[in-house]
Amino acid sequence: MYDIIIIGSGPAGLAAAIYGQRAGLSLLVIEKQPMSGGQIINTYEVDNYPGLQGMDGFELATKFRTHADALGASFVTEEVRGIETVDGCHFVVTDQNRYETRTIVLATGAVHRKLGVPGEDALSGMGVSYCATCDGAFFRGKDVAVIGGGDVALEDALFLARTSSNVFLIHRRDGLRGAKILQERVKATENITILWDTVTEEICGAGQVESLALKNKKTGGQSTLPVSGVFIAVGITPDSALIKDLAELDDGGYVKADESCQTSCPGIFAAGDVRTKQLRQVITAAADGANAITSVQNYLTQQA
Ligand code: NAP
Repeated sequence: MYDIIIIGSGPAGLAAAIYGQRAGLSLLVIEKQPMSGGQIINTYEVDNYPGLQGMDGFELATKFRTHADALGASFVTEEVRGIETVDGCHFVVTDQNRYETRTIVLATGAVHRKLGVPGEDALSGMGVSYCATCDGAFFRGKDVAVIGGGDVALEDALFLARTSSNVFLIHRRDGLRGAKILQERVKATENITILWDTVTEEICGAGQVESLALKNKKTGGQSTLPVSGVFIAVGITPDSALIKDLAELDDGGYVKADESCQTSCPGIFAAGDVRTKQLRQVITAAADGANAITSVQNYLTQQA
């Protein structure tokens, strides 16, 4: 029986592994992919983690993982299928094993949200992408669009502007949501054009993205924008399905938990992007990992 099973190996899960090892707890990290880091693996630059300005997301993830490994944390790559709770003990059922544990730290993070327009699914992987750092190279010298106005959309537009010919940032309002410093960089980049108050009604193309059908929300005017690729960055959805019958979620599907990371299910803690919180960034995810372990320790002491 483990003291803790950590599900997920993004910044929250890896910080929990580091703090858990240092606390002398027996723990196992279960990760779905054979690569730790979560969403930051696909971030070309994490510019706001103190002391590591301009750090490549993949490099930061590697540093977190190396730190956890150096402290002796154990990792397995398995897909968690369910969580069972019986008389205060928890069982984590994967595609390969059934693990028994006193506590669980759910650090499953979030996945990208879909835009939900015609053509999105049919042309996914054929010009429709959710990851600029993964797929941007396919559009070298071509015109592309980015949909969204948050941090991810701005970062994607800046990343693509390095290699693509023209980048059209399509935003449904007349004000961007992302960080001011990113907004300024976007506005100062010559080959990025912002299309304000604009929604995408359809992604068009025969076997490959060829254009977008757009509508201006203020004027009602419709237009066609020829592009070879479209990067959708319209937010994230928490990966909380595993816990939905065990603990309370909010209307957006985030696991209800405060800074202690304690969920409404005793012994189960939620850390990182999957929990209710004001700010979802690497630094707050890592802080959650640390706080969750303190809560685990308090819980185990009370149970002893
Ligand atoms: P986000 O901040 O929720 O932004 C989503 C954007 O997509 C918003 O501009 C939103 O428009 C737009 N949008 C949502 N649904 C749409 C739809 N159906 N059609 C058109 N546009 C739509 O999401 P994110 O950029 O993916 O970031 C996720 C989280 O990670 C955020 O908390 C972010 O701060 C964090 N993050 C931080 C950093 C960093 O610190 N460097 C980097 C990446 C991500 P409205 O503005 O009109 O709502």
